[in-house]
Amino acid sequence: FPCDVIRNFSIIAHIDHGKSTLADRLLELTGTIQKKSTGTNQQVLDKLKVERERGITECDLSLIAQWTVKAQTASMIHVANGKPHLLNLIDTPGHVDFAWEVSRSLAACQGALLLVDATQGVQAQSISVFHIAKERGLTIIPVLNKIDLPASQPERIAAQLQSTFGINPLDILQISAKTGKGVEDVLRAIIERVPPPAGDTEKPLKAFLFDSLYDRYRGVISLVAIQDGVLRKGDKIASCHTRKKYEVTEVGVMHPEEVPTSSLQPGQVGFVACNMKESSEAHIGDTLHRLGVPVDPMPGFQPTKAMVYAGVFPVDSNDFIKLEESIKRLTLTDRSVTIQRESSTALGQGCRLGFLGTLHMDVFRQRLEDEYDASIIITAPTVPYKVVYKDRTVLVSNPTEFPDVTDTSSKVKEVQEPVVKASIIVPEEYLGEMMDLCFSHRAEDLDHRYLDAGTTTSARAILTCTIPLSEIVTDFFDQLKSRSSGYASFDYEDGGYKTSDLAKMVFLLNGKPVDALAIIVHRSAQQNIGRLWVKKLHKVIPRQLFEVPIQAAVGKKIIARETLSAMRADVTAGLYGGHYERKMKHLENQKESKRRMKRIGSVDLPQEAFFDILSTK
Ligand code: GDP
Ligand code: MG
Repeated sequence: FPCDVIRNFSIIAHIDHGKSTLADRLLELTGTIQKKSTGTNQQVLDKLKVERERGITECDLSLIAQWTVKAQTASMIHVANGKPHLLNLIDTPGHVDFAWEVSRSLAACQGALLLVDATQGVQAQSISVFHIAKERGLTIIPVLNKIDLPASQPERIAAQLQSTFGINPLDILQISAKTGKGVEDVLRAIIERVPPPAGDTEKPLKAFLFDSLYDRYRGVISLVAIQDGVLRKGDKIASCHTRKKYEVTEVGVMHPEEVPTSSLQPGQVGFVACNMKESSEAHIGDTLHRLGVPVDPMPGFQPTKAMVYAGVFPVDSNDFIKLEESIKRLTLTDRSVTIQRESSTALGQGCRLGFLGTLHMDVFRQRLEDEYDASIIITAPTVPYKVVYKDRTVLVSNPTEFPDVTDTSSKVKEVQEPVVKASIIVPEEYLGEMMDLCFSHRAEDLDHRYLDAGTTTSARAILTCTIPLSEIVTDFFDQLKSRSSGYASFDYEDGGYKTSDLAKMVFLLNGKPVDALAIIVHRSAQQNIGRLWVKKLHKVIPRQLFEVPIQAAVGKKIIARETLSAMRADVTAGLYGGHYERKMKHLENQKESKRRMKRIGSVDLPQEAFFDILSTK
């Protein structure tokens, strides 16, 4: 296949607008897959509870959860104008947590289908992915889907595309991915409108790594788009960014499963198996070249950047090794999780994990719970803060390492926190509610405009603001959904760092701080959060033989306090009847739980108490 008959494209869409369905139709129409063979994705993913809890479809998760299923990148052959064309569909993850990866996978394409549900119209993710594609200079083919539905309003949504993206309504295709109507036109448009990739067989090998998979038998498999040169089995190659060397054991195309070929030519998209051991070696955005023949790497490489961190501890501290093994097994297939060991006086030995975002964290947590069959304690999520000193800036992603900024001798000049530029699309009647939600989460620069005037249904508004990342890592998404009756769509992009009035809040039991519970709080929220957590602790911590003060403190200042009253010395005294057996059972229970007790100062705390504290919202 010479370059001029190759087209590299992806489908960009908001969740549920029909990306997977359209991909299936394209693969069927080109004879790449048999009708109705949907693969194992669905079954594997049906198990993920997160999907229901977060209101995300199983299909979107298939894009997010590249670690459990193979990405949908696939090559197909379609004959047009009497010539067979090679069409490479490149998969992009659909969620904001993976914005960086979306941008990377789009870098392997020359065109994108912007798929919009004709009943729903433009949604938050339609906009964010559109901008990424536009920035990369891709040809965009606008496609309205689900026109078979009586509720579809193709004219109205076409007008939205025109006003939002400046798209000419005449360029818009109208299809039903479900019935297959108009899907032929999509193939034709790809061939006619998307420019072929450029590439030179004679130039030194330059392969752009845009995705990777993990295969239990062959290890890491990288997906590459060949920019120049030819890649063959047996070639010795190296990475521009890690400088590691590899020998190619297999190359081929995804058709739709791996099909080995003798070589990959310029413009082609395919897989490379080499002796990479861990997924973390396959850096998305990396450039591979022939050993000893260096090339200029593709621009814009960034190592994976964790934005949400949390500690993970076994409820039974004897299980640490087992937990760590489970985590390691899972990260074999998920290159974007970072791990470090962490130890806490309250929770013992554990791991500190870094995630791309909260959805990523939730998916991983659930996979971990399935993989590791005992209970785990996950500490409250934290974002990476910048602590600025006179002569240096330190990135802090663990509250226990956060300095006491109220102490003037700490020499901290200021603290900065990551912020995001958020956009929310809602029917206008929810606009006020959404503004309240944003304000209560420290949003700034609030602005809004209308996407359309609204005719039979209410007008859609888009609300934009700058909001601290820490404010959206906890319950923001859930509140957004419930306070908009599920109508709001939400997306965000990196907004850099902003100076903020933050301090560390610690919780004291009988005057001793509990490290695992330290959190970073904005001044405006100190009172509320302090009181809330102290109450929660009071409820969960079992009574001791003596009175225990429970306090929240910022620096030396006590923000909130509750007192846990003492219990009587004889644990069995409270049991009426005084049956011998009952007494024995109680003493035995006590012995059993002693093993899991943590002593903080002089206070005995069952490990489960932490579980209760940290798992209640
Ligand atoms: P994705 O999240 O973008 O991958 O969306 P899916 O392909 O999973 O589709 C989401 C839902 O919309 C599924 O229930 C599909 O069956 C349905 N769907 C997709 N395309 C069409 C269409 O053209 N017409 C109708 N009526 N339903 C569709
Ligand atoms: Mg899907």
